[in-house]
Amino acid sequence: MRVAIVTVGDELLSGDTVNTNAAWLGEELTDRGVSVERVTTVPDDVADIARVVNEYRAEHDAVVVTGGLGPTHDDVTMAGVAAAVGRDLESHAEAREWLTGEGGYSADGLVEGTTELPARARMLPNTEGVAPGAVVEGIYVLPGVPSEMKAMFGQVAGEFDGTETFTTVVDVDEPESELIDRLDEVRTRFDVTVGSYPGDSVRVKFTATDPTTAEDAAAWLGARVDLVEER
Ligand code: ATP
Ligand code: MG
Repeated sequence: MRVAIVTVGDELLSGDTVNTNAAWLGEELTDRGVSVERVTTVPDDVADIARVVNEYRAEHDAVVVTGGLGPTHDDVTMAGVAAAVGRDLESHAEAREWLTGEGGYSADGLVEGTTELPARARMLPNTEGVAPGAVVEGIYVLPGVPSEMKAMFGQVAGEFDGTETFTTVVDVDEPESELIDRLDEVRTRFDVTVGSYPGDSVRVKFTATDPTTAEDAAAWLGARVDLVEER
C-alpha cells in the first residue's frame, strides 16, 4: 500500500510548531508495511490543500491529511479536502449524533460548522476533542492536535495493513464526461476500484488485490477508448 501524508498549517511552515504529526504518522504507517512516499506541508489555504491532495490521491492508495478541523476561520482542512474531491461541505448527521450523544455536547452548544464534512464522507469521531475527522475517497482527514490525531488514527489504523494491492493505469485521450458509461461497465465486470483523474488527459487507475484483475480491467477499457499516444 502506497500512502502520502499532507500536514496543513502556517505554523508548521514558519517553524513555530515542529511537525511531529508527520514523523509519528510516517513511523506508524511504515511499521504496518505501508510505503510512505510523500510528506508535504501546505499553508492554511483551501486551494493549496485541494491541489496537493488531488495530486497525491491520483498516485497513492491513500492520503492522510492532518490539520485544523475546527470551525475557526483558519481551520480550512476539511474545506480543502472537499474541494479536492469536488463535494460540498454538509452538516453530517452522524457527527451531530455522536457529538450530542457520546460527545456530551448540547446541539445549541455546538459552534456552527463543527459537524460539516464532505458530502457522503465517513465520519471519524474525535474522542480527545470536538471536531470530527472524515474518510472520503481514500483521503483520511485527521485533526492537527497531536493527541487527537493519534487517537483518531487508532480508529483507522487497521485499514493501513500493508496488504498488497495492484494498480494499473490507463491514460485516456477523451473528455472524462464521455467515459461515464464505460467506467460504470468496467466496474461491474471486474472486481476493481476505479479512479479517474482528469488533467491534460484522463488518468484511469484500476486497483485490485491481484495483478491479473487490475490488468484485465485496464485491457478491457484500453480496447474501448482513445489512448494517449506514447511519446
Ligand atoms: P482545534 O480544534 O483545537 O483548533 P484543530 O484540529 O483545528 O484543533 P489545528 O488548529 O491545526 O488543529 O492545530 C491545533 C494545535 O495542534 C496547534 O497547537 C498546532 O500547532 C498543533 N499542530 C497542528 N499540526 C501539527 C503537526 N503537524 N505537528 C504537530 N503539531 C501540530
Ligand atoms: Mg484549530
